[in-house]
Amino acid sequence: MGFWHTGYIEFHEPAGLGDSYVPAPPVYRCKHCDETFASADELRDHRFENHPYTRPILFLRGTEAGTTPLRITRPLEKGDIQVGRCDHAWLNGVALSPPDLDEKLVAETNNAVTVKLANEGVSAEFVLSFEIASEKDLVGVDRCFLDVAQRGRLDIRAVEDFITASRAFPTAIGYCHGICEYFYGVLAKERAADSSLPYEAYREKFTCAEDALENFDSVLARVICSLIAFHFNRFRASVDLAGDSRVGIASGRFERWVAKDIIGANRLLSHTFDTRLEKLLTDFECERLIVWCVADPKALFAHAQDIESLIHQDIPEFDRTKLRVLLAELYADLGNVEKAKNHARELRNNPTLELWAKSVLDRLTDEKQPHV
Ligand SMILES: [Zn+2]
Repeated sequence: MGFWHTGYIEFHEPAGLGDSYVPAPPVYRCKHCDETFASADELRDHRFENHPYTRPILFLRGTEAGTTPLRITRPLEKGDIQVGRCDHAWLNGVALSPPDLDEKLVAETNNAVTVKLANEGVSAEFVLSFEIASEKDLVGVDRCFLDVAQRGRLDIRAVEDFITASRAFPTAIGYCHGICEYFYGVLAKERAADSSLPYEAYREKFTCAEDALENFDSVLARVICSLIAFHFNRFRASVDLAGDSRVGIASGRFERWVAKDIIGANRLLSHTFDTRLEKLLTDFECERLIVWCVADPKALFAHAQDIESLIHQDIPEFDRTKLRVLLAELYADLGNVEKAKNHARELRNNPTLELWAKSVLDRLTDEKQPHV
């Protein structure tokens, strides 16, 4: 089983994970149209101007609260809470003036609260679940992760030991849970002998890991979430989370290919990236795929037969799709028109890649270069 591929040695410093990695700046995504913004204020302005509903709105640190409970895992600060289209407010049934919500919510650490907001016509209720993890406990769980990574092998025993060690850091239990969900997903995906889960269960485990980790502002959480987004072909999200980690380059190349920006996709190959933490987290297939995605065309061509044969094996459709895009672009780049067209044709009926496939076919139609 290929896990913890290499890289532990780079991460033994007692400071933990924080200093060795540069995260990407946060991205604020509108939940109504998927547009993204660099600040919570820009998102809020956009929300009011472009989606003028009458229902009261509650924003917490740039995230709009919706109908499902919102988990808050990092301490709120004054100014993180904003309301809109709201004349009256209640906290756990007790009326208060809307501006006072800020002070009350900042004080919460470990509690589920209900916020009701109303204007003349409509009211809305939001459930906020506060599970604030202390910085000390988050760093503690990161250390537990590095301790098990040092073994060089992921198995059920390693996960159990990680859970046991993490109990010393009780406020970060949700963080530990998210990391474990990812571990269980990787074990299922690698068909580990001691995993009781069927292969397909990795998807649900990855989704649970993402749900649990997305609100933690930690390097480990971000790299796990960027790897999961890459697997599910959500390349924009993967780039946003990856920072200077290698998976961000791989995802960025797919994003550019799909946008028909061939030059941009190739230019990304000259960017430097960090693999140390990422290599502690990738499963065997994912590691191989990412290595191919960031290889220059000549180096990648040496693996073209391996990739062709992998496409016909029992692999997730998400990966088969990535491999076809990768090969089509590789062959197109090297002037092997027929092979490039074959892979593009396979994706012509894929709703998200239809336009990409058409553009590759159009681009190559008049080309008559010799091939490799
Ligand atoms: Zn929007």
